[in-house]
Amino acid sequence: MTWTLKQLSDAVKGQVISASADAESITFERMITDSRQIQDGDCYVALQGQKFDGHDFIPQAIKHGVAVILASNPEVAQHLDIPVVLVSDTRIALGQFAAWHRLQCPLKTLFAITGSNGKTTCKTMLHSVLAHLGHTLATEGNLNNDYGVPRTLLNIQPSHDYAVIEMGANHGGEIQYLTHLAQPNVAMITQASKAHLEGFGSLQGVINTKGEIFEGLLPGGKAIINLDSPGSEQWLASCQALDRQVLSFGRSEQADVRVLKVTQNDIGIQVDLKLPDQSQVQVQLSVLGPHNAMNVAGVIACGWAAGLNWAQIQPGLVNFRAVSGRLMTYPLKQGVLIDDSYNANPTSVKAGIDTLMGLNGQHLVCLGSMAELGEQSLAAHQSVIDYAMNAGVESIFVMGAGYAECQSNDAKVQWFASHDAMIEAAQNTIQQNVEIKMNILVKGSRSAGMEVVSQTLISNN
Ligand code: ATP
Ligand code: MG
Repeated sequence: MTWTLKQLSDAVKGQVISASADAESITFERMITDSRQIQDGDCYVALQGQKFDGHDFIPQAIKHGVAVILASNPEVAQHLDIPVVLVSDTRIALGQFAAWHRLQCPLKTLFAITGSNGKTTCKTMLHSVLAHLGHTLATEGNLNNDYGVPRTLLNIQPSHDYAVIEMGANHGGEIQYLTHLAQPNVAMITQASKAHLEGFGSLQGVINTKGEIFEGLLPGGKAIINLDSPGSEQWLASCQALDRQVLSFGRSEQADVRVLKVTQNDIGIQVDLKLPDQSQVQVQLSVLGPHNAMNVAGVIACGWAAGLNWAQIQPGLVNFRAVSGRLMTYPLKQGVLIDDSYNANPTSVKAGIDTLMGLNGQHLVCLGSMAELGEQSLAAHQSVIDYAMNAGVESIFVMGAGYAECQSNDAKVQWFASHDAMIEAAQNTIQQNVEIKMNILVKGSRSAGMEVVSQTLISNN
């Protein structure tokens, strides 16, 4: 993409500061916020962070050949040889420019996805579907915040047919901001549950924030709502008030895309569904986890809302593979290890336990702390232990804060002070049951670093 400085200054309503009369015709191809990544002809965006002020790195950007600078500090801007677009807030301006750019691109459909769980999974699954049908851009990794969303939007090229944008939030108002930048044609909430409670205060806070996504839908846009999720009635009502068309999914009879049955087998899950045209279909996925049936239903609803039919949607679902760290399965000498160490909250840990218990043999869970749960932390950790006990997990290994304060006198539950201690105990459990198929789930919040446990157990077994 090539942009002119005039397009930038118009879109962000910025003041151009330059000694050159034809500065407005200067072109650039990339908006870069990290001065170390600047190449000849880029635009450097000087962001003001909590720890760093991007204006301090302008000399470095100039050394690397920057063509245009987007800045908010007038003092710095006055003394440069490079043209500057001066705004009051560069973070907001980056978003404004991304929103402007998004509307210039003749996409068939832009999909926005939020929710407490399953955003990256659904984004990747939908990407897999759309990649069969046209040139598709999707959020890289988990770049789903007020920096990642503009960055993704700016990567949309005129040749793209589809874009899938993941939107994350840990406090109110964030999704509203992001959806107004992305201006989706189709917006989905995977579900609302107790995640990031520190920022949201309560489940109601989560429901309100996720619901903001529909405010940014373009005219004629469609809302995709999970009827099984807390908050679905509120979202349906707000879509009615906003005059947005809705396509629903879930297990309930009213759902437009309805999950009829899920069975887990050794290679993944088989899902029976009813589609909006009342036809019934069955699809075999190469991912474990009964909860993924809901992700499949949501993705089908997204595709349907964009005018796709089953014959177009199905091949991408069949080809979909698990996303690293999210229920990725690894064969052990006996049994399998499910590496779900990427992240955790109570709902996703329980979904992981259900997945594990769907496998024949013995079961071991290795759980690290769930972060950002605020004052509900202890209750949430206790509820996970209780859930694992009730589900019949034979060995429940936990570590870290939250679990440390939980009560359990049952010998099945063991608390460990370190990854190494947990790994050693898991290794012993595997060796003591060497003749038995031993299935292991490893899960915890990002900060718990549980991938050390999964990686070690995979390489030793
Ligand atoms: P993040 O907030 O970290 O971006 P995310 O919403 O993108 O998370 P994923 O990365 O797709 O979610 O999955 C995170 C965890 O949630 C995984 O452990 C996965 O197994 C679980 N999960 C995915 N979909 C669902 C679902 N529909 N219901 C419950 N748990 C789910
Ligand atoms: Mg994600």
